[in-house]
Amino acid sequence: MNAINPFESAMKQLAKAHKVLAGSKKKLGNIDQKVARLREPQRVINVTLPVMMDDGSQRLFQGYRVQFNNAKGPYKGGIRYHHNVSLDEVKALSFWMAMKCAVADLPLGGGKGGIIVDPKTLSQGELERLSRAYGKAIADVIGPDTDVPAPDVNTNGVIMGWMVEEFIASQKIKAKVLGKTLTKKDILKLKSTFTGKAITNGGSEGREEATGLGGLFVLQAIIKKLKLSGKLTAAVQGFGNVGYNVAKFLEEAGIMVVAVSDSKGGIYVPEGINPALTLDCKKKNGYLAGCYCSGSVCDLKKGRQVTNNELLELPVDILVPAALENAITAENAGKVKAKVVLEMANGPTTPEADTILYKKGIPVIPDILSNSGGVTVSAFEWEQNRKAAHWTKAQVNKKLAKKMADAAGAVWEASVMYKTDLRTAAFVVALERILASMKS
Ligand code: NAD
Repeated sequence: MNAINPFESAMKQLAKAHKVLAGSKKKLGNIDQKVARLREPQRVINVTLPVMMDDGSQRLFQGYRVQFNNAKGPYKGGIRYHHNVSLDEVKALSFWMAMKCAVADLPLGGGKGGIIVDPKTLSQGELERLSRAYGKAIADVIGPDTDVPAPDVNTNGVIMGWMVEEFIASQKIKAKVLGKTLTKKDILKLKSTFTGKAITNGGSEGREEATGLGGLFVLQAIIKKLKLSGKLTAAVQGFGNVGYNVAKFLEEAGIMVVAVSDSKGGIYVPEGINPALTLDCKKKNGYLAGCYCSGSVCDLKKGRQVTNNELLELPVDILVPAALENAITAENAGKVKAKVVLEMANGPTTPEADTILYKKGIPVIPDILSNSGGVTVSAFEWEQNRKAAHWTKAQVNKKLAKKMADAAGAVWEASVMYKTDLRTAAFVVALERILASMKS
């Protein structure tokens, strides 16, 4: 999936939006000079992490934290554990975070982290030691007003909890050197350095499902504009946090999810998948194949296996890539039959594929809009920790719905005003906000 360099794709997207903005009469200072600063990150942190393995040997892991841009506020972005992590991938993801936070109009910039590791090969103890080592290694460059990490692919609230402990321990040592003791309030504020924490550890209600729910809100706003109605069907690639939750919310909203997949392949159930039952079945079996769960039963006769490529080419109304980058490429874009693509993963469509889909009249709701619900509720968590507040799930979801409707509205209006596709429009909205916060 990663042969295409995601940072190059990101820079092509930036160039397209830059061109649109440069041709507009917007007063944003020296646009060329400011955009030039968005072609490289402000800071790249490269860490080597020695970890004691269960057999007593030592293994060295390579990790990164990229702080792309903080014109609008502290760097913000998740930490990914994956064997294909590369510096260019983390750079691309951190750039997209800066754009995404601006589209959602959050007081945050863009950052991202990653470790080159296949976490499935580690024991729980090894995973904990690796996570703690990473938390300790980046402790000096993060903080509530500096850089606020969160979970991403293969990381979660438990991992954030280990990192928070390492970060707070390092801050306690610093305070001690200065003859100070951290109060409970100080510690809660320090906890806001990481979002996506467990609720019992200062996490926000609704964070786990926020990306999926935000995706539904964005989809509902855009399909209204596209005048797409009736009984709609969807196929979802990826069945992790984002894929599962978006499938669940689509189904609850009356959109029939007929296919889902994970890294091992997918399933197609024409009469509609029950995501919750399917997840239970996958957990029991270890794989999706055979989990043809519809209504309240799983039955082998109801469905069949599909490959990830077949899933992308199914005759559905809504295609939802929710796994990794470069899923829709120049090779398969021509075969996409959906009426609209809802990008829930980061960077799932290459610029070449984008052009093909545009020519075919298939609107792509871009990642920096569709999946911005996650970082939006992360920003809510950050805000709650800083105010020592705890909002109910209803309060969180109401604020999320408003943010997503506003963001989708701004992107749609920009696409009409500049007569451009939704992705370029989203980048233009983000750039306008970021450039306005930058000094010339
Ligand atoms: P996750 O680790 O929970 O799930 C990833 C899923 O993708 C798994 O089901 C995995 O089996 C599947 N997958 C991996 N390789 C695949 C392949 N080649 N084909 C099909 N499926 C494959 O991760 P997640 O948090 O759900 O993140 C998924 C995507 O959404 C990533 O691009 C991530 O950056 C993005 N994202 C996540 C959040 C969040 O809040 N978690 C927010 C915004 C964006």
